[in-house]
Amino acid sequence: MARKFIVGGNWKCNPASAKEANSLLKEWKKGLPNVDKSKVDVVICPPALWMSTLAPSIEGLGMEVCSQNVGKTDAGAFTGEWTAGNLLDLGIKWTLIGHSERRTKYGETDADVAEKVGKCQDIGVNVILCIGETLEEREGGKTDEVNKRQLGAVIPKVKDWDKIVIAYEPVWAIGTGKVATPDQAEETQAAIREYLKSAVSAAVADKVRIQYGGSVTPENCAELITKPNIDGFLVGGASLKPSFMDIVSKVG
Ligand code: PEP
Repeated sequence: MARKFIVGGNWKCNPASAKEANSLLKEWKKGLPNVDKSKVDVVICPPALWMSTLAPSIEGLGMEVCSQNVGKTDAGAFTGEWTAGNLLDLGIKWTLIGHSERRTKYGETDADVAEKVGKCQDIGVNVILCIGETLEEREGGKTDEVNKRQLGAVIPKVKDWDKIVIAYEPVWAIGTGKVATPDQAEETQAAIREYLKSAVSAAVADKVRIQYGGSVTPENCAELITKPNIDGFLVGGASLKPSFMDIVSKVG
């Protein structure tokens, strides 16, 4: 099955001001004619406070807004949280869940991630589920085991796999400048797809899109995207530059 590519730009807590964010979006507009929207979906994850204000500009570029996170609860006494329903209410149809910074800096467990995915499935929000191993785990030969554990926690919550994208993001590659080699990424992502086949079904394994994330740049993306199990990228640092459009163009 031909899977449509998907590229995400995860801005994290950047840039420093909304003014800079608007300038970046204006720069992107210049590169837009190169993007074939029938071949690639592009989602942008700005800081939460700007999701609504930047949405018209992002959507004007043919891209969609994606939250960086979502709560695991429904509406109620949960100070500082937002729900999957809040996202839909704002017209936001996508969220990341389980980014390694949420897991390592905010103590999110596999169970938390699964609950969040469940809430999004209940209401129809698309999820980019981030999974991936640490350097220690890779060096200990535990890469596939970790990915299976993180993905396996979520599988019971998923009823609609059309609303799930997996982002394989080795923690050692995130923000470090140390990109996985195309062969490393392909081998791991093929194993993730194989696991989906055995744990869910061949049809699901075939259709679920798996992004690679971790120090992707305009320079290294062209070779990565030639690999059959890499269906796009989740991009952090390089998504804060005008040249992010080059990544999108090379994929699409
Ligand atoms: C990320 O934060 O998801 C990420 C992949 O970051 P970077 O591209 O900067 O490594």
